[in-house]
Amino acid sequence: MGRIAASLNQEPNVPILPSIALTRRKLLQRMGLVGLASPLPFLRAFSYSGLAAEVPEVATVVRNRAPLAANAFHFLPLGSIRPAGWLRSQLQTQASGLSGHLDETWADVGPTNGWLGGKGDSWERGPYFLDGLVPLAWLLDDARLKAKAQRYIDWTLDHQAANGMMGPAANDDWWPRFVMLKVLTQYQELAGDARVIPFMEKYFRYQLGALPARPLRDWGRFRWQDELLSVVWLYNRTGSPYLLDLAHLLRKQGFDWMAAYANFQHTQRITREFLKLNEGNNGLGDLALSTHGVNNGQAVKAGSVWSLVSGEAGDRDAARRMIAELNRYHGLPNGMFSCDEHLAGMDPSQGSELCTVVEYMFSLEHSLAITGDPALGDELEKLAFNALPGTLTDDMWAHQYNQEPNQVECSLHRKPWTTDGPESNLFGLEPNFGCCTANFSQGWPKLVASLFLLSAGQTDGQAEGLVAAVYAPCEVRTVVQGVPVHLVEETGYPFRGAVKITVNPASPVSFPVQLRIPAWAAGTKIWVNGQSMGEQVAGTFARIERLWKAGDRVEIVFPMVPRVSRWFRDSVALERGPLVFSYGIGEDWVKLRDRGMTADWQVFPTSAWNYALNVDEASAAGIAVQEEAIGERPFAARQAPVRLRVKARRVDAWRAEDGAANPLPQSPVASDQPEETITLIPYAAAKLRITAFPQCKTS
Ligand SMILES: [Zn+2]
Repeated sequence: MGRIAASLNQEPNVPILPSIALTRRKLLQRMGLVGLASPLPFLRAFSYSGLAAEVPEVATVVRNRAPLAANAFHFLPLGSIRPAGWLRSQLQTQASGLSGHLDETWADVGPTNGWLGGKGDSWERGPYFLDGLVPLAWLLDDARLKAKAQRYIDWTLDHQAANGMMGPAANDDWWPRFVMLKVLTQYQELAGDARVIPFMEKYFRYQLGALPARPLRDWGRFRWQDELLSVVWLYNRTGSPYLLDLAHLLRKQGFDWMAAYANFQHTQRITREFLKLNEGNNGLGDLALSTHGVNNGQAVKAGSVWSLVSGEAGDRDAARRMIAELNRYHGLPNGMFSCDEHLAGMDPSQGSELCTVVEYMFSLEHSLAITGDPALGDELEKLAFNALPGTLTDDMWAHQYNQEPNQVECSLHRKPWTTDGPESNLFGLEPNFGCCTANFSQGWPKLVASLFLLSAGQTDGQAEGLVAAVYAPCEVRTVVQGVPVHLVEETGYPFRGAVKITVNPASPVSFPVQLRIPAWAAGTKIWVNGQSMGEQVAGTFARIERLWKAGDRVEIVFPMVPRVSRWFRDSVALERGPLVFSYGIGEDWVKLRDRGMTADWQVFPTSAWNYALNVDEASAAGIAVQEEAIGERPFAARQAPVRLRVKARRVDAWRAEDGAANPLPQSPVASDQPEETITLIPYAAAKLRITAFPQCKTS
């Protein structure tokens, strides 16, 4: 039990925390209302007059414009949600690491980058870098990072061609422009720059005219839904009818992901031979691109985003169907599907590319908002709290291209990748290829933007309200039913099960608050101002509708009970809440070479790892759990905030070959080795690890 849960049980009527009262005072200060004898009537008038939209903290949500279908939930304007606690530390570490310094040490996005008018990289790397840098800079309100991002954005906005084309003239590929459009939509919401919307209008008009003669090709053809998001964003703001024509043209020229998954063919490990890469094929054919990991990660949202235009329920539900196929044939215990670089089957020694982790997260964020499906939140949390931090060094100065659930060595040894090179699981500046280097920065900041959403109340006849979609410490300033609402979420989630949300409307207002109850969280309990709301149904949104007054508290306790999940060859993994646990193998970090401000590293094992666990579905709940303080770097091994102690035996026959663990023996396995108690730590904390274990034969 964490501190919040303890105080909940002992003192059901604790007053508003002083820090919250202080923050609310700051909100009033920003609105210039401190010092007034009674600010609340003024606040109401203020918000109803429409002036609230001019205050960034309480900017208005933009809804889908007819004839687009309605979202189940809407994103709050960027900047409405600020990270707090361990999540803020995570973003600060990122800003102090590669994300905040990449342009200083990596020429690809440095002063000669094409998106600054230089002769260097003029393709995706500049926009990729900005796609994470922009939200990171503004969420941290970091002037140094904002100034960096502003240079690329100003160059882009100032150098639009007379016909409307944007970006470096040296490369006319549509694809990197998809990414720059995502950058510009975020930047406009954060900075309110009036140049953005006319710029995008002019570009889209140009593109609509140019696409028939110069259609989408390769990457752009397989990622059309990412541009569609920006087209929808602009249509909701301008209502220009030609944007719907552009939406249809993108769909028509783009690859039909929904049809591909309606009859999913790629159920096996995709090999170089299958793709005929050895026969002069360059990897840009339809077979290679439709089995490419990042493309599939991006495609998970294709159906739900397109459903806004088509209005079809079948499109809307496509994300869930696509995820089911990926999990069934390529699912790994860290929440990812294997993709190294193509879909790679179920063996936990296969890898997953970092770009796919962050793109899959982005797809889940949008699909969750559009469909309101709570299961997508479960998938998103698993990626965010395991696969994302698990493939970055603790200081975020180095990353992998591929991570493995069973990762027993990170070296130049030959590896089992389907098509990737030997450096793929090294930690470094740009192992294998530099896409992830530029692209990974979007993962954490975009998660922040997805923590709370606005329930629409547009088509379902319900009043608009707030939705806790993903749990992490944060603060929210928004407007619900015309009333400014300040909300504070205090929690050690995902390391703890207690979440406390304090709701501070500027004046009493009635609206629903929906709370995602993960599928693993049977037995979750909720209290409002100390009063029990009873047990909740797992895999749904709990709904609390009441007249909210400043200082109202919602307290949730998720049962954080260890549980077993089953993987390749009936192997077992241990999970607790959204965290997956691994055995941390002893690590010897050997520098391969310096890379400017950072370095490339190989990591060699210094201890045995070939354990089978003596655990099953029935006994998992009895596993001893040890909780420690949640520090500045909660995903680092030495500060692991939670550990599991579990019985295990060595399995001599299970070995590594060329730096990769051999395929797991079929469980259950016999072992004549003595029983030991081993400690498991969160997946992300173990950079060398076993996550899917054989299960001991018990008799
Ligand atoms: Zn990548």
